[in-house]
Formats: sequence, C-alpha cells, structure tokens
Amino acid sequence: MSKSSRIIGIDLGTTNSCVGIIEDGRLLIIPNDEGFRTTPSVVAFTREGTILVGNAAKRQQIMNPENTVFSIKRFMGRKYTDREVANDIKLIPYALQPADNGDVRVGVLGKVYSPPEISAMTLMKLKKDAEVYLNETIEKAVITVPAYFNDSQRQATKDAGKIAGLEVVRIINEPTAAALASGFDSKNKMRVVIYDLGGGTFDVSILKLGQGIFEVMSTSGDTHLGGDDFDQAVIDYLIEDFYTKEGIDLRNDRVALQRLKDAAEKAKINLSTLDSVEITLQFIAVSKDGPKHLQTILTREQLEQITSDIAERTAGPCEKALVSAGLKPSEIDEVVLVGGQTKMPLVRNVVRRIFKKEPYTGLNPDEAVAAGAAHQASVLKGDIRDILLLDVTAFSLGLKTEGGIFSKIIEKNSSIPTRRSEPYTTTKDDQSFVRIEVYQGEKPMAADNKMIGTFDLVGIPPAKKGMAKIEVMFDIDANGIIKVSAKDEATGKKQTIKITPDSGLSGMEVDRMKKDIGEEFSRKIKSGDKAPSSPEYKEEKSKGDEGLPGEASDPKKKASIFDIFKKKER
Ligand code: AMP
Repeated sequence: MSKSSRIIGIDLGTTNSCVGIIEDGRLLIIPNDEGFRTTPSVVAFTREGTILVGNAAKRQQIMNPENTVFSIKRFMGRKYTDREVANDIKLIPYALQPADNGDVRVGVLGKVYSPPEISAMTLMKLKKDAEVYLNETIEKAVITVPAYFNDSQRQATKDAGKIAGLEVVRIINEPTAAALASGFDSKNKMRVVIYDLGGGTFDVSILKLGQGIFEVMSTSGDTHLGGDDFDQAVIDYLIEDFYTKEGIDLRNDRVALQRLKDAAEKAKINLSTLDSVEITLQFIAVSKDGPKHLQTILTREQLEQITSDIAERTAGPCEKALVSAGLKPSEIDEVVLVGGQTKMPLVRNVVRRIFKKEPYTGLNPDEAVAAGAAHQASVLKGDIRDILLLDVTAFSLGLKTEGGIFSKIIEKNSSIPTRRSEPYTTTKDDQSFVRIEVYQGEKPMAADNKMIGTFDLVGIPPAKKGMAKIEVMFDIDANGIIKVSAKDEATGKKQTIKITPDSGLSGMEVDRMKKDIGEEFSRKIKSGDKAPSSPEYKEEKSKGDEGLPGEASDPKKKASIFDIFKKKER
C-alpha cells in the first residue's frame, strides 16, 4: 500500500460516521467493508475477546448491552460530574466511572477506556476501510464536531484522531461543513438554516454566507432528540399490538427487543418512500400453545400519528435559533436538511411549516457533513482556493472582576479567528498584582460560568486604586485555541497563557493509548489489561518578555483581597 498525502473528511457522528474525499474535484463517499456509505459509531466487546465496530457491533447491541458502547460522543471531553453526564448515564446500559482527574471513563469487561479511545476505535475502522478502498495509507483527516463543542470536547476529538493514527489537520463545525457542501454561490450573501436531525441528537444552526465567508450566527438544539425516538415509538406500538393480540409482553426479552429495534428502524426507513410495510418477526415468543409470530401492517399514516409529537419537538429550538440570530423565517434563503431522519416526509412537513419554505434537497442528508469535511480537506491541501471559513465561539469569554461579576470580552457567536482587548484597573491602593481568572459562559456572575484558566500579572508599581491600566487581550485562532494576555501599560510587563483543558489526556497517555489500542485492535485480544492512569492537563504558561518573577506560576499561594480588579474606562 502506498503512502498518501491525501486528507480525508470525517463526520464522526453520535450515531453514524461517514468518510469523504475530493477526487479530481469530485466528491467520493468511501463505503465501508460491507459496502455501506455510513458506519454506526458503535464499539462492542465480546466475551470471546473480539472487538466489533460498526454494523457488526450494532447488530448485537441489545443482546450484549453492557459491553456495547454507543453515543460515546456524548462523553467526549466531559467531567463525570457534568450535568449532561448525570442525565446521559441513566440512558446507557454500559458502565461509566470517573477517572482520577474527574473525566469520564467507560468500564467494559474489567477494562477501563477513555472516550477518545473508544472513538479512536471507530476512527480506526473508518481509516482502515478508506485505506483498503483507496489502496493507500491515510494519515491525515479533517474531523467535524457540533458547533457547541467546547475546547475540551474539541481537544478530546483531536486525541481520538491521534490515538487512531490520524493527524487531525483541522476540526470544523458540522453546520459549517454542511453549508460548505451545499455549494451555494458564496458570492451572493445568503442566510442558511442547517436543520440536522440524526439518530440521537438535533442541532439547528443559522449561517451567514457571502464572499467566501461562512459564519455561524446562532445554534440551538436538543441533545436527546433523534431517529432513535422515532424507532422507540414504533417499538412501543409493536409491543402494544402484540400484547393485545397474544397477551405476551415482549419488554423483558432482550433477543425479542433487538429484533424489534431492527424491524422498527427498517419499517420507519421504508415508510419514507412507501405507504405501508408488513412487519413479520417469526418465533418472537413462545407460549404454552407453542411459538408465536409477530405479523402486522404499519402504514405511513399510522407512523406519522405515533411520531408527530417527536417531530414537533424540533420546532422550539428552531424558533430559538431564529430569535438569537434576530431573524424572521422570511429572511432565511435556504434550509438545508442534514441527518438521516430528515428523509422522513413528516419531518420535512414540519420544516416547511416552521420556515415557510421548501427545504433544499441537493444534498444527501446522511453524507452532507462528511462532504463538507472533504471539501475543507481539499481547501487545506490547496486544491480548492478562494474559500475563507469563519467559525464562531460557542460561548462568551471574559474575566471575573470586582464583586465576582463576569466581564465579557468576547461575545458568544463571535467569528473566529478573533482578537479583542479591554482595559482594566486595580481596586486597592498600592495593589501590586492582579489575578486574571478567565471564564466561559453567559451568566452575569463569574462563579455561575466555567473557569477555564487563571494567571497573575505581578510587579504593578505602587499607585492609587484605579490608576493602573491593564490591557487584557483575548486571542482565538482558527482551531478555537484561546490565548489570554495581560499587559501593564505603565511598565510594559506582560503575561500570557494558552488555555488548555483542565481535563483530557496527556500527550504521553495519547501515545500509550495509540500503541495499546493499535495492538489490541490488530490482535483482538482478550480484555483484562491494566487501565491507563490519567494525570491532568496543565496550563501551559509562557512568560512575558520582561522575565516576570517565578511567583506568578503559583496563583494559589497568593489568594488575597487584591485578586479582583475592575474594568477601567478608556
Ligand atoms: P445520522 O445520525 O444522520 O446517520 O441519522 C441516523 C438516523 O436516521 C437513524 O435513526 C436512521 O434510522 C434515520 N434514517 C436513515 N435513513 C432514513 C430514512 N430514509 N427515513 C427515515 N429515517 C432515516
């Protein structure tokens, strides 16, 4: 197999993943080894010591629930104590536990994995299938993430790539990718809605396109709304129907439930093009009279009746996204459908009603995000020119100031890369240093937001309170990496930090996982190895030109009444 300089585009989805590449200016979606154009993001560990990824893992999911890891994307870059994790944990049958640094870990068959490791297994399969298909080794990828992913979640996604042996050359937002793939003539200014209803999540984003710029104006969604809810409604219907006819409850029979889930999803998909389907599950149960078969007809009308409330739940987030972009439906030029579930006619009706227009159907909803990632890969390789991608920050960023008040420097939804500075001052006479505490979030009090970094600027000359002028600068690059610096205007002293997640994996851990997983994967070994330990990421501090005293590196030592400062008028 020859080495390639090609960069693949990967949509690493919560439910399904997809890989694309631009070949001679044309999009190629790379099929997996079973010939499917998307691959379930599911990893299963069998008691025989085999690791299954993709369709093979999904097919045995309900029969082996404790050892089948799905929706790992929900736990990427998360702390075990995060509110979202507390909610999600109730919905998954596999075991989660906290790591030493508080991150989430998955426990399977006596072994402990980090979410990036599990994600890496899906990525390794995608990489391998692409290599076999293209007959070349692939080493580089563009990977997409939801627009609301924070720094830790993006970093975890990069780690997953590294563990899988891929250099992640760029992380881009999923709605941006979908807009890029739509190929609207970006010379004309347009406002585009990306309505993304996948297997387990719903995301809606409003983008502004024009002159080669793709800017996310707002995002909203529901992290627990998707195709799985439609499947569950059909499963419940079938169980009810069978109970009425046969008096047998299938709810506690795992094998029956796996068969029901597969049949329900298949029926739902077929009803996107057919008016009715026949569902037959032979020998689904046994009674004292002998074996029982489930046989029923489901019409599109019935499916729409039992799922209309689910489709309607997408309306609220759409309205929110419109409000936060300050737009009316009549000001939207196109609505792009993304995610397999948007192929359902009922969902399209809801979209039509909300936005009062016909949705754009020029893209395959399953492949739109991967297509955009492939497109971006091509831009980065230099094959496609004249496109500038502008993403936005998912949260506001700022500082804690006097009285614990959060002072925003960069507003949520600001385009990145960006750079902004604000002047601040001291609150006490002869205050010799200020503590810079960096927060992200939207709440007025800093303590209600998330602290993402802290450092001190020392050596401020004695002066009356409010006299010093300290310019605090935020700098966010194209990958969303944040740098904060503070400069005392009087002395020119400057201190800078690069914000890195207080969680996540260290470089050494990533390297070790890459080796371990690579070996485990190729040998499909039995589990039981020792779990890797997880030291915390540290803030990478860099000193300013002036050679500041070493005390600046240990902020805890100096917590005092002087550590809060307030904004200064320019
Ligand atoms: P995604 O996460 O974008 O891959 O979307 C997966 C979801 O789309 C699953 O719940 C699928 O059952 C659903 N899906 C795929 N194709 C169709 C279809 N033709 N009609 C309705 N739902 C579909």
